[in-house]
Amino acid sequence: MAENTIVWFRRDLRLADNPALHEAARCGTVIPLFIDEPPTGWALGAASRYWLHQSLAALATALAACGSPLVLRRGDPRVVLTALIAETGATAVFWNRRYEPDALAADSALKAFLAEFCVVRSFKAHLLFEPHEVATAGGTPFRVFTPFWRACMKCDPPALPLPAPPRLQAPPQRIAGLELAALALEPRLDWTAGIRAAWRCGEAAAATTFECFVDGALAHYAADRDYPWRPSVSRLSPYLACGEISARQVWHGVHAALAAGGIRDDNAAQAWLRQLIWREFAYHLLFHYPHTVEAPLREHFAALPWVEDSEGFEAWTRGQTGFPLVDAGMRELWQTGYMHNRVRMVAASLLCKHLGVHWLTGARWFWDTLVDADLANNTLGWQWVAGCGADAAPYFRIFNPVAQSMKFDADGAYIRAWVPELAKLPGRAIHQPPATETGYPRPIVDLAVARQAALARYAAIRR
Ligand code: FAD
Repeated sequence: MAENTIVWFRRDLRLADNPALHEAARCGTVIPLFIDEPPTGWALGAASRYWLHQSLAALATALAACGSPLVLRRGDPRVVLTALIAETGATAVFWNRRYEPDALAADSALKAFLAEFCVVRSFKAHLLFEPHEVATAGGTPFRVFTPFWRACMKCDPPALPLPAPPRLQAPPQRIAGLELAALALEPRLDWTAGIRAAWRCGEAAAATTFECFVDGALAHYAADRDYPWRPSVSRLSPYLACGEISARQVWHGVHAALAAGGIRDDNAAQAWLRQLIWREFAYHLLFHYPHTVEAPLREHFAALPWVEDSEGFEAWTRGQTGFPLVDAGMRELWQTGYMHNRVRMVAASLLCKHLGVHWLTGARWFWDTLVDADLANNTLGWQWVAGCGADAAPYFRIFNPVAQSMKFDADGAYIRAWVPELAKLPGRAIHQPPATETGYPRPIVDLAVARQAALARYAAIRR
């Protein structure tokens, strides 16, 4: 018998390689649904909400063209789904799995509830490997990246991505839903010009970004990825975060390009695929150690004395620390919702090591301002820098923001792009600007003194 299936979209805002949608289309009529849920845990940040609005608009257009329009509803998913099932006679609910601790708990309770009166199925779509598919020889979760990566490479390769359904069959009746604007995802006071200028959202934009990367920058990825001013990274993170492109699509896309001889440097491709496995590692940790979204993985770090420094934190958020590489990164983040990985590490290190501000304070700022905000990756990144997570930087590794600047932005091209008041400084002076009339601040900390203070704090809890 043909099913009438509700496909509940969450972090999978695409038609291609969408197993829940694919299976529903195969089984009968399809009701695509997005629910504006009451926030649990880490409620979406402002930049992610902006992105979600654009992404839903693109998804709605694509679904309508495919034959079954997207229905937008608001409320508790249990209530929304029960009502929609009653209204439409839907016989099944399909979704792709998510892994954030609150979402995971809510989804499994919902599954048990709905299974009493309809078919409920969930699918793997967000990751290459389910977090429980990869384990040590002893069956325990990994806490160190390299063995995790090796174990992934020994697993069955990820399934090939699924094509987008060519056509969806909608149920006969019109289904009422909210207008996208009613979700109020976009800010009332528009501050998004920089994000709009920097990005195109949606599945088609994700595919184009990926193709351009494979045809261009990927060839230099291994050599260039740490230099923030070089166009060497994919900038796929926001698309991966909200599922406008899947990990499987990019994984197999790179392998296909390699097989076709389209990528000459195998090392570059492997280096990039390895970064995708860092994303898998982040989800593995989030799944097995859900407490890490608020607390350190290495539990004795809970005793680390943090510093209350609201002035320092504010200077950091505004890109006014007096350390040009950090300020360039924080301003790039504020304007475009993105920051290069190397600069994320240096900026995060200044905050939680030199200033001694709690890593969660920085993580929350990133969460609100990043268009690629992703609980797994953000938690991993911050705990790595703070030294309290899996495979973390050793406590004594404190990035020197001036040395990092000289090494990774030697000519100051990145700094000049984001800190215009320093643009005219000649040569290497840009890394340690002299006190001038430019209005650029003096460094907010003495690096040597702050480093010693950080080492003393860490020594107090050392094991
Ligand atoms: P590429 O270099 O092209 O890498 C391809 C993909 O691999 C990325 O899109 C991402 O999905 C994954 N990846 C790359 N590096 C990492 C990494 N270190 N950890 C996990 N996955 C990785 N990434 C997010 O997606 N969301 C976040 O909220 C986030 N917060 C971070 C916070 C801190 C403090 C740090 C140090 C890193 C954070 N990262 C986060 C990881 C990384 O900085 C971004 O994934 C990367 O900069 C995105 O740019 P890209 O897509 O061009 O990356």
